[in-house]
Amino acid sequence: MLPTRRYTNTVSIGSIKIGGSEPVMIQSMLTSETTNVESCIEEIARLDAVDCEIIRLTVPNQKSIDSLPVIRTEMKKRGIERPLVADIHFNPQLAVNVCEFVEKVRINPGNYVDRKKFEVREYTDLQYQEELERVEEKLLPLIQNLKKYGCALRIGTNHGSLSDRLMNRFGDSPEGMVESAMEFLRILRKHNFEETVLSMKSSNPLVMIESYRQLVRVMDDENMHYPLHLGVTEAGNELDGRIKSAVGIGALLCDGFGDTIRVSLTEPSENEIPVARSILQSTRSRIFNADFISCPSCGRTFFDLESTTEQIKLHTTHLKGVKIAVMGCIVNGPGEMADADFGYVGAAPGKINLFHGKTCKERNVPAEQAVERLIDLIKENGKWVDPA
Ligand code: SF4
Repeated sequence: MLPTRRYTNTVSIGSIKIGGSEPVMIQSMLTSETTNVESCIEEIARLDAVDCEIIRLTVPNQKSIDSLPVIRTEMKKRGIERPLVADIHFNPQLAVNVCEFVEKVRINPGNYVDRKKFEVREYTDLQYQEELERVEEKLLPLIQNLKKYGCALRIGTNHGSLSDRLMNRFGDSPEGMVESAMEFLRILRKHNFEETVLSMKSSNPLVMIESYRQLVRVMDDENMHYPLHLGVTEAGNELDGRIKSAVGIGALLCDGFGDTIRVSLTEPSENEIPVARSILQSTRSRIFNADFISCPSCGRTFFDLESTTEQIKLHTTHLKGVKIAVMGCIVNGPGEMADADFGYVGAAPGKINLFHGKTCKERNVPAEQAVERLIDLIKENGKWVDPA
């Protein structure tokens, strides 16, 4: 049986929701400095144009917080209404101050309160408990402001930045990452704050996948159902970055996990969005376009498969959810076309058979007319819409 999407509660990020039965949302992060308002606005406009649904920016100082109302005003002037997320490291006071200006705050539990000194030290249970009390004390003002301003929180655990306390007890491991998030999560729940999302990022997809899986098991045991933000951090660029992200994020989506994703590429941020969409479409997590099934071609192929597939895609890619098979020959029968709605299949040199489902509707159509006839067949069966 195919896995179903994991049950979660929904979390509001301004006007949009993540988790539950909401679509898996796509997000990215600005590469611009937050104090450079002009650069931020241009980047936000580029992300908005490719339908990035949530936009994160870094907030390393109070000056960055001061830029946020200006950025928001400029967004409004341009009619851009994307939720903003503030990314905070090292400074709890900045997290408290920024709640007023953003829809979500991301904190890293590895450095929110603790300073990493790479100390090797045995913690007694009492000392460990005292450390947790210190974390709780530091989280209280944040919880108060998150509630006051209706702001959500992401506990964004990173493999590379676990605190000394966690490293000494659990090592640099998925178990340590899970416990790092759970410590914060238990405090948030104790103080009735539920608008929380979690992430378990690593540059190693194996560590990342295992950490998310363990986190879900531990949360289930504690009757917690918070949404997940998926990502492989520092994935790199070009093909490597895309494959690494697809492996890590894709594996978890196939488990039914994940409510929002970010593909991290060492490239302009807008390049991340088509990759994210492709991962979601390939895992059937969210459908944006037509779905294409095409054979790799071989010595039996009766037409130029590559250029014909491109031509068919050009005309039909906007048909959201329609599955179209392009097959070089009918060697294994219509079954080869999986569950395609329409099929374009080589019948003989220069001749094409057109299918609706598993039924051959037209035989031996001359190849030069076949794409047009395929479009007619889609129209006759009520699956056509004009491109936007
Ligand atoms: S469908 Fe036909 S042409 Fe395509 S790879 Fe298979 S045998 Fe070759």
